[in-house]
Amino acid sequence: MATKPERFITDGIRIDGRRPEEIRPIKIEVGVLDRADGSCYIEHGLNKILAAVYGPREVHPRHMQRPTTAIVRFRYNMASFSVEERKRPGPDRRSTEVSKVSREALEPVIFRENFPKASIDVFVEVLQADAGTRTVGINAASVALADAGIPMRGLVSACAVGKVDGELVLDPMKEEDNYGEADMPLAMTQKGEITLLQMDGNLTAEELERAIEMAQKGCRTIYELQRDALIERYKKEIEKEENNKEEEEEEENK
Ligand code: ADP
Repeated sequence: MATKPERFITDGIRIDGRRPEEIRPIKIEVGVLDRADGSCYIEHGLNKILAAVYGPREVHPRHMQRPTTAIVRFRYNMASFSVEERKRPGPDRRSTEVSKVSREALEPVIFRENFPKASIDVFVEVLQADAGTRTVGINAASVALADAGIPMRGLVSACAVGKVDGELVLDPMKEEDNYGEADMPLAMTQKGEITLLQMDGNLTAEELERAIEMAQKGCRTIYELQRDALIERYKKEIEKEENNKEEEEEEENK
């Protein structure tokens, strides 16, 4: 178990070398699983998280079918080796809660009404955890949904704001999350509409306002990385389509 540091911020620098408004380094890979319809792997600081999407597909068990819309199912799971002390495998209260809020963070952007009676199944596997796994899971799931070709109003991006040594910090890592004074994970659409807001600890009204602004900036940065990763993945397909279009136009002009 990591120990509580004496100070979290020294001369404006956090224990991992970041400034208060800086997020951790992020690496996003799209389409990493052959059997899933869509997938995404994200390394966010020390977090390593995989998301897989299946669907739209027939709902099993059938009684869960909805006649006018698709249902979204989200399963967040932490591998037993993902944390310092072995986590007991299988679902627990925390993973049930994280699954529920993550599903609710993504549902508003999915055109569920396009797929009546179907299910869209999202699986998030935390391979290595270092705080913020629900937000990284949402970021990975959002990209995996896009990779699966699920029609969406846009991507969802998420990050947390914490409070340590009386100061707000963007994207807390494990020590800041475990021993800090507050932790507020937040998810939002491309337009900035908030789809998840949770809070551990206490913030004043002014701090809350500033924390939301910080999270908005963090989410914007993450959105750009998600978008770039999708473009990178589909660059070749986009180029091929554009070349085909040009060839077709040339043919027509002949
Ligand atoms: P989040 O990962 O979304 O920040 P929490 O605030 O509940 O969710 O957890 C913070 C961090 O605490 C996790 O990212 C993980 O590093 C650690 N943690 C959570 N659950 C366990 C557990 N059962 N055993 C060990 N560490 C855990």
